[in-house]
Amino acid sequence: MISLHLLFCMAALTGGTVSTRIIPRYDGLLMELTSSEVITDSITITGYSVNVRPGHRVIMPEAFLPFWVFGWEPDADSCGFTVELTDAVDSLEYSLREDGRVMLIFFRAAEPLLFPELSWKGPPREPAYSDSEQIYSDSSIIAALEMGQQSPWLDDFDCIVIDPGHGGRDPGAVGYTGTFEKDRALEIALLVRDILNIRRPDLEIVMTRSTDCYVSLGARTRLANSMKADLFISIHCNAATNSSANGFETFFLSRARTDDSRAVEMLENSVIEYDEGYDAASHTFQDDALSFLLADIAQNIYLERSSSLAVEIQDSMADRFTGNASRGVKQAGFYVLRGALMPSVLVEIAFISNPGEEQMLQSLDFRLASAEAIVDAVLKFAEQ
Ligand SMILES: [Zn+2]
Repeated sequence: MISLHLLFCMAALTGGTVSTRIIPRYDGLLMELTSSEVITDSITITGYSVNVRPGHRVIMPEAFLPFWVFGWEPDADSCGFTVELTDAVDSLEYSLREDGRVMLIFFRAAEPLLFPELSWKGPPREPAYSDSEQIYSDSSIIAALEMGQQSPWLDDFDCIVIDPGHGGRDPGAVGYTGTFEKDRALEIALLVRDILNIRRPDLEIVMTRSTDCYVSLGARTRLANSMKADLFISIHCNAATNSSANGFETFFLSRARTDDSRAVEMLENSVIEYDEGYDAASHTFQDDALSFLLADIAQNIYLERSSSLAVEIQDSMADRFTGNASRGVKQAGFYVLRGALMPSVLVEIAFISNPGEEQMLQSLDFRLASAEAIVDAVLKFAEQ
């Protein structure tokens, strides 16, 4: 095993301070450096040596040391230091946020690890799944839906469910060089959670999964219903047999309107074969018919709000990704959105089957920008 060498060279700047926050994740540690001054107008990074100027003293948090760093050496003639990383670190990614005051450094773990003791806001909220838990048995909710009214809990906007597509034995689409949709979707979803936690600490953010594990499609919406969530956002990466297909698109639940939408629908719905309780011959679940009837009613009730959320997300992505093609807002019949008793959308961030976009998905910069675009849209939607 080879240790990586990380070098922060930070020139002293009078009066400047940098606060450090560690955001532990299953796939590594996200280190957030927030500066009182604009960090730089130029940032140069070669290999794993990071130069930020003008920069500041960075205090390496104690908790960070045992797992990730063998030790660090303050430079004698500057405020920089050299860090020797442990084998726990597989690679390093960084991103300077556009306001120039926040730098994110992501230490990708060599193995999935859990550091509950380092948790900055408690361990990820991921309630136990219960297949028997059926909100459809709540008569007041059924009554409201049958009268064409929205779910009663939606009056207060206080809980969002974020759903990283696929996971565990279901890799999702496989990229041109063999990377998995499930990994990129999870990374972006975790960033959405992290940023929402920072920008709106009052909102409860629930993940359908925060590790590489398998969750059935039905369990994802059941969780959102049982949490009485106000929004359900499913995050995916697109794929097509034509490797030049590219761009981003946002879907809300409906019957697919175009051949293109139908293709995405088939791709995302094919996961269903991984689900237990699915009867491939009849294309049905062993779920009760009532829940599907209510799902249809709910779909109509939330059609307008789901489509307006989809428009917000698509616009927000288009603002940030001027170089990427906006494929627009579309309608399709995704199983994962079916049964959600709240506005719900599915975002296809980019085509993992496209070599250029697969590479883009592997950069923290791009994933962060995608996550911020989604967060901007969600917060805008929340104000409505
Ligand atoms: Zn997918």
